[in-house]
Amino acid sequence: MAYKYDEENIFAKILRGEIPNDTILENDHALAFRDINPQRPHHVLVIPKGKFVSFDHFAKEASPTEIVGYIQAIGDVCDLLNLSIDTGDGYRLIANSGEHGVQEVPHLHVHILGGSSCGRMIQS
Ligand code: AMP
Repeated sequence: MAYKYDEENIFAKILRGEIPNDTILENDHALAFRDINPQRPHHVLVIPKGKFVSFDHFAKEASPTEIVGYIQAIGDVCDLLNLSIDTGDGYRLIANSGEHGVQEVPHLHVHILGGSSCGRMIQS
């Protein structure tokens, strides 16, 4: 089986500069921007610049350099927004994947949610 990547997904369009976004941080391998429909005071999406559908796709097929760059961007967002448990009050990291994960946009993204309590992990 091969992962299928939809070139017309909305995050692909953001990466190509075709639609605007509220970028807070960028490196060679990742882009972090605010979610258009925030669920907490801080709600940031971090996406790899490569064409990966899901976290498992990324884990299997991304290069070590891409993986390091992506993970570093997540840590840098936590520092930038003062969410790190070293200096702040913490956050929730979510990666919805596929049908059962209820993933809407088929380009890997993690949600970083913080600024207030995220409550119990799963509500229903
Ligand atoms: P998911 O269910 O994990 O695929 O979540 C997709 C997320 O993308 C949702 O939280 C949306 O609010 C968010 N989203 C969709 N379009 C945009 C956009 N143009 N800019 C920022 N966030 C978006």
